[in-house]
Amino acid sequence: MKAMQLVKYDQPLKLVDLPIPPITRHDALVRIKACGVCHTDLHLQEGSIVRGRLPFTLGHEMAGEVAEIGEEADWLKKGMRVLVNYHYACGACHNCRVGLEDECTELTSGGMDVDGGYAEYAKAPARNLLPLPDEVSYEEASVLACGGGTVYHAMKANPISLGETIVISDEKLTLAQKLGADHVLNASKQDVVKEVRVLTGGEGPHKVFDLVSAPTTLETSLQLLHKRGRLIVIGALTKPFQVNPLHLVRSRIQIHGQGGCPSYELEELIQLVKHRRVQPLISKSYPLEDANQALEDLRGGRILGRAVIKP
Ligand SMILES: [Zn+2]
Ligand SMILES: [Zn+2]
Repeated sequence: MKAMQLVKYDQPLKLVDLPIPPITRHDALVRIKACGVCHTDLHLQEGSIVRGRLPFTLGHEMAGEVAEIGEEADWLKKGMRVLVNYHYACGACHNCRVGLEDECTELTSGGMDVDGGYAEYAKAPARNLLPLPDEVSYEEASVLACGGGTVYHAMKANPISLGETIVISDEKLTLAQKLGADHVLNASKQDVVKEVRVLTGGEGPHKVFDLVSAPTTLETSLQLLHKRGRLIVIGALTKPFQVNPLHLVRSRIQIHGQGGCPSYELEELIQLVKHRRVQPLISKSYPLEDANQALEDLRGGRILGRAVIKP
């Protein structure tokens, strides 16, 4: 099978011919139909996030059809359309036992620690496969795994109450406006702290969801927050940022890191897409061989919403 592998950090992925991965009795083999391209893939490629041993196949937003089924996974059917939850939990640690499988202390992630979906096939634990209704396309499903799921999980873990003001740090201003944001500020041209103070009557927002998580956005977010406010860090950058402990103490500020999504919430999200309450934005698709172009386009800010690779 063809796969685009990370062979060396900071280098383009390499097109390789690999044997189809053999499965264990608890696994299934998925013929990948779409795989989302995530910002984390850029960090993995650059080596700013180091996970699995090289070489390995990138791609953690996988959707496809079941091609082989392990003996212990007979509830699956060949040809079944599925989304892969890339959080392969151990099932035995304390977090797994209390239902927090995406926070498993022994977590292995498809496309990060083991081979992922920039390939014609990927194997995954059968229990990580979520059936897809016909109304949800492979492209739409794939990007729920990380992009959609992470934000959905963060919103559910930090519910917004009536009367609260929310700030979302993101780079796509025009899109945010189109999707109904009340106010859009451009940090490169405007004094965000001052403008948000004015917009919130001097009080600041109750929650900031930081999807960028660069030191500048994180430090600005902390300055912005209302008393007892909460900063939710979602972007997976690795640069440290400065925190003044006295500010946290005096303003009772909370900082909450969020990533991933448990399978039961991915199931909810699939239903929300099926009923068109949530619409994934897929702006571009690439053949497998063009995975490097997809990564470059994402790096260059030329992708609106998500791009997908279609092996
Ligand atoms: Zn575990
Ligand atoms: Zn991701």
